[in-house]
Amino acid sequence: MAHPREILKELGASPLKSLSQNFLTSPHWATLLVDSFLSAGDFDEAWEIGPGLGALTEILVQKCKKPIRLFEFDKKLSEYLKNRFLHIPLYSGDFLELDWSGFIEANPKIAILSNLPYHLSSPFLFKMAEHKAHVSHFLFTFQKEFAERLTAHPGSKDYGALTLLMEIHFNLRNLGTIPPGAFYPAPSVASQAILFTPKPPHPEASRLIPIIKAAFAHRRKKMSSNLKEVFPETNWEKALNQLGLDPLVRAEKLSLTDFVNLLNIIK
Ligand code: SAM
Repeated sequence: MAHPREILKELGASPLKSLSQNFLTSPHWATLLVDSFLSAGDFDEAWEIGPGLGALTEILVQKCKKPIRLFEFDKKLSEYLKNRFLHIPLYSGDFLELDWSGFIEANPKIAILSNLPYHLSSPFLFKMAEHKAHVSHFLFTFQKEFAERLTAHPGSKDYGALTLLMEIHFNLRNLGTIPPGAFYPAPSVASQAILFTPKPPHPEASRLIPIIKAAFAHRRKKMSSNLKEVFPETNWEKALNQLGLDPLVRAEKLSLTDFVNLLNIIK
């Protein structure tokens, strides 16, 4: 594939910061990401979000035996992709605004690949959690710092509500760190690729998630004070004590199992 600089010049375009346009230039990483994506499990359709100038798409088209769909926000890049990948359907618009109902009538298992627009990492993950019943797996790249929040362990500075929400919904596998030089323009930080496989619905998710969000509302405050603000009817210090935890504990010390146990105590 020609260098993104050349293709953009021909299109009379330049990388848009507002759409987090950092285009992959490394054939090594493009192949590794597509191969990991395709070998991660069975699926009926492959979707690529934000194909950009087609660095992943061109390999996907060669190797994927299942139908492919592309979702690209940028109008100029959408036209370029339509002309280049003539038989691959492309939806031009904001993926976060997509109404999935038109795409899931036949109940396909969808596998999703994206070098994500990094500024939208959290909204994209919440979108995946919302639709996980239709998703076999997805492979996203993130800024490394953000990825570390997803895979952090209790007690670390990166551990938070997002870590626990991901643990409720998905199994995560780290596929490696991609250096800034693998992109044009080179971002200021490294990227990380993560493969997600949905877990079956957690039986307590609807009660657990509001408690986790409230517990982490103010990181510097003790967890019982945070929880009291949202759920004043519960004696949180007593519940923590019953669990054998310090009533002054901060939320980042608790694992998902601790939160589930806490929920069982206050039932
Ligand atoms: N996949 C290409 C690659 O690896 O070279 C481009 C990756 S670039 C980091 C992110 C891409 O997502 C850009 O093409 C950008 O235009 C597109 N994009 C940004 N926001 C989007 C959105 N809300 N919905 C769909 N695509 C979006």
